Amino acid sequence: MTEQLPPAGTPETTPQDQLASLPRDAAPSASPRRSSAPAEASETADVIVVGAGPAGSAVGYYLASAGLDVLMLEKSTFPREKVCGDGLTPRAVRALTAMGVPTPADEGWLPNKGLRIIGGGGRIELDWPELSSSPGYGLVRTRLDFDQILARHAQSAGARLLEDVTVTGPILDEATGRITGVEARDGRRFRGRMVVAADGNSSRLSVAMGLHKRDDRPLGVAVRTYYSSPRHDDDYLEAWLDLWDGGSLLPGYGWIFGMGDGTSNVGVGLLNTSTGFGEIDYRALLRKWLGAMPAEWGFTEENRTQPVRGAALPMGFNRTPHYTRGLLLVGDAGGMVNPFNGEGIGYALESGEIAARVIVQALARSTAGGREQVLNSYPRQLKDAYGGYYTLGRVFVDLIGKPSVMQFCTRHGVKRPAVMRFTMKLLGNLTEPRGGDAVDRLLNAVSKMTPAA
Ligand SMILES: Cc1cc2nc3c(=O)[nH]c(=O)nc-3n(C[C@H](O)[C@H](O)[C@H](O)COP(=O)(O)OP(=O)(O)OC[C@H]3O[C@@H](n4cnc5c(N)ncnc54)[C@H](O)[C@@H]3O)c2cc1C
Repeated sequence: MTEQLPPAGTPETTPQDQLASLPRDAAPSASPRRSSAPAEASETADVIVVGAGPAGSAVGYYLASAGLDVLMLEKSTFPREKVCGDGLTPRAVRALTAMGVPTPADEGWLPNKGLRIIGGGGRIELDWPELSSSPGYGLVRTRLDFDQILARHAQSAGARLLEDVTVTGPILDEATGRITGVEARDGRRFRGRMVVAADGNSSRLSVAMGLHKRDDRPLGVAVRTYYSSPRHDDDYLEAWLDLWDGGSLLPGYGWIFGMGDGTSNVGVGLLNTSTGFGEIDYRALLRKWLGAMPAEWGFTEENRTQPVRGAALPMGFNRTPHYTRGLLLVGDAGGMVNPFNGEGIGYALESGEIAARVIVQALARSTAGGREQVLNSYPRQLKDAYGGYYTLGRVFVDLIGKPSVMQFCTRHGVKRPAVMRFTMKLLGNLTEPRGGDAVDRLLNAVSKMTPAA
């Protein structure tokens, strides 16, 4: 079937035209919700983005910058808390820079020089590598206002944002099963020529479209809180590898990230490859680990400024395929957290950019077949970007799930600077894309040779 549509975002494409060009609405088969809202309650855009976390705001920013009409729907209202370590590696800083987000230190962006790793009786400080592709520093910024800054940035580029709108399910075309919009809890309906799931780890929208989490992919769980601490202005991100469950060294790490505002973000995260994964009491693990810290750091109950909160980290393409029937998955919705280090913000921003570029090209095609051809390239582009590296990550996660391997690596690695410099580049996915030093070339070659599954 071919249908002739003008390229989206052109001045002659009015919302009414777009609505008229959309396939007729049908009762959603994946989700039995029906709206009693009148037809005029329906709002249209070229693209509907569900969720305005880092991934959604990146999609919104890039689509609006390309002249498309993009509507972001966010269930919360900003500013809002998000359970996170608040750490941004140079990769994430690069992505922020690409979006033109200013990050000056005097506006609350705390720079860091690198990573301090403690474990196996060793302690090492590793500076972020200076690369042409990313800066030699990371940042820390609380998600309380980080996400708000990104959402406002997308809006200033022209994206529309509706806060306090909880999307409850897709609107599907009866004939094709294609998503043509979404329905919100208040009964409102939003129509788009494409829909992006940027609704995070649980991604109810993906689930309603039949895309579930994969059991064969890694998953992390982490808890974190904040303490008033003299360590609040540490200029290294600190990771502790000594997390013990009885006699077993656990696959994960504890972190202390100074926020620069009098507090430190402190937490622990574990991978699902540890034997007792489902049974671990994370709050108790955090308490026990912090109990061994020097008293002067202040990580005590009296100094705790926030509740201990936890959430899951979907890793290594934990939900696939990343495109189906008009729906593209970005960030945590597509399980894009780095399995090596638990970093998700940079990948949310990057996948948002990749998705937006695909959508822009797709909507410029004049036939349904042409648009579909472009959209189908999205999973391939993600695999080209991360596939081999994430496959390696899955091997890594399986290996360190064995306490003896984790113990060997910690005991013998941390004391060897050359090993740790290599490890830092590997774990942070921080290599020159082309050329670079011997470590860069080795890691790039291995990632490219490893099949992207
Ligand atoms: C404890 C912990 C510590 C972490 N530490 C770090 C770290 O230090 N550095 C790092 O890079 N990563 C870290 N991560 C991972 C990082 O938080 C995520 O990878 C990142 O937030 C993903 O961004 P996202 O935009 O894909 O999803 P999210 O940030 O989860 O955003 C999803 C958005 O969608 C909205 N939404 C959800 N459902 C609906 C709906 N039905 N309707 C409308 N809106 C909806 C939500 O309100 C939210 O705003 C950590 C994760 C955890 C759990």
